[in-house]
Amino acid sequence: MSRRFTRFALSLLALGTSGAALAQTGPITQAELGAHVNVLADDRFEGRKPGTAGERLTTDYIVRELAARGVEPAASESNWLQPVALVERGAATHRVTMTRGSAQIALPADSLVLTGRDPSVSITGAPVIFAGHGAVMTDRGIDQLAGANFNGAVALILYEGPEVEGFPSFIERIKMLRAAGARAVIGIVGPDLPWAQVRRFAAGGSVQLDDPDLPEAYGAMSWEGATALIQGAGQDIERLLNDQPGSSFRSITLPVRADVQVTTEIRRFTSNNVVGRIRGSGQSGESIVLLGHWDHLGICRPEGEADRICNGAVDNASGIATLIEVAGRLKAGERPVRDILILATTAEEMGLLGAEAFARNPPVRRGSIVAGFNADTMAVAPAGTPVAVIGGTPEMHTLIGRIAIGLGRRLDIDREADIMVRRQDGWALTRNGIPTVMAVSNASDMNLLRAFLAGPYHKPDDDLSRPIEYGGAVEDANLLVALARAFADPAQFATPTAEGSGQ
Ligand SMILES: [Zn+2]
Repeated sequence: MSRRFTRFALSLLALGTSGAALAQTGPITQAELGAHVNVLADDRFEGRKPGTAGERLTTDYIVRELAARGVEPAASESNWLQPVALVERGAATHRVTMTRGSAQIALPADSLVLTGRDPSVSITGAPVIFAGHGAVMTDRGIDQLAGANFNGAVALILYEGPEVEGFPSFIERIKMLRAAGARAVIGIVGPDLPWAQVRRFAAGGSVQLDDPDLPEAYGAMSWEGATALIQGAGQDIERLLNDQPGSSFRSITLPVRADVQVTTEIRRFTSNNVVGRIRGSGQSGESIVLLGHWDHLGICRPEGEADRICNGAVDNASGIATLIEVAGRLKAGERPVRDILILATTAEEMGLLGAEAFARNPPVRRGSIVAGFNADTMAVAPAGTPVAVIGGTPEMHTLIGRIAIGLGRRLDIDREADIMVRRQDGWALTRNGIPTVMAVSNASDMNLLRAFLAGPYHKPDDDLSRPIEYGGAVEDANLLVALARAFADPAQFATPTAEGSGQ
């Protein structure tokens, strides 16, 4: 519990509102980072869960602190907040009937999970089409949707894709099918995947970006279920899969009609990224982005427990504290050439959703953000810990190494920390064409990081009641100031070519 800090935190809040722009020079200090963490991890913020009262307190605080440092709003003309439409889908029930002629095809029990895009979905008499992986890759001459008319159809595809670079994910493929007119898409799960686990995963209530491009119903079918269905259609599943290999595959309309009813518990809500900008002197319209996620897990324990709030002091109040102080130093220092975007993302803990929304729909020209730096879970390692780099391109690593060594930091070059690459917001930016790194001490000493992950991480213990190690965070924050200056300078970091941009 962090109750005993409440009074302290409130007095800091009062200080934060006191007006005049802060001109900050000199290195970032532990006291500065700690002051923000003490506010953001206070119980009053209730664990900063997207869509709660804690969100408003959090984004208000970040906006106020950035504005006080002279950062300008950049979500749009004069707005700090970029809305992120989210949807939470809970339990879903379905009734599915497959018929051939007048005969119903019996499907094994529990062989299908389906979710609706909207609360109530009803599809009757739809043609059923087997579409292979359901992939369209124009650049490689692959169009597995050729050969059938998907308008109003229920499409069957293989859930897993081949291990091919650039092969579209299941979600991307079901959106291709929806674009082709399919109303429902069912992924056949191969015999090697544990169906019970897939089923639980697919049925589990989760929050996602509210994506209007999804089909009306989508889900997964067990191998057993698919075998029964395709046999009922008078075909052999192995032959269906193997008769037309690779890029020559054409979709096959089965002699089957489907009736599909799905009822899904759905809650739609809007959360917000905070986006600010430090305007550069250049005319290229290029920018770099510094980001950290503001959200955490909220009230995470049932009623009656002594401490119910996952405050997220280290994860990621320490990252937001870093972002605010780094932005202040950059604004107070020599004007950068490129613009510097300051991005506090929402819904990282729900699957990098705010970062994904930003990357898909940035408030600046697509392709104009040349590099990103993520600040997540900063306060773990002590001072003197080497810098490890997670993600990014070789060009970025070279410049980061030079800057870090210039500041007297040691480098950790074993790249062991890359196992964390998909677990942080930088991944959402990188996969959307904005090469993004974490250059941090917390990923250098893997034993320390593992101890944090096994300890207070994602528990009510990540709060203000335990001592927080700021040594590494302070050094990393000051490194980030220097990195941002260097990467905002085209003379030090050239505009990446299409080849080198990580695309
Ligand atoms: Zn987390």
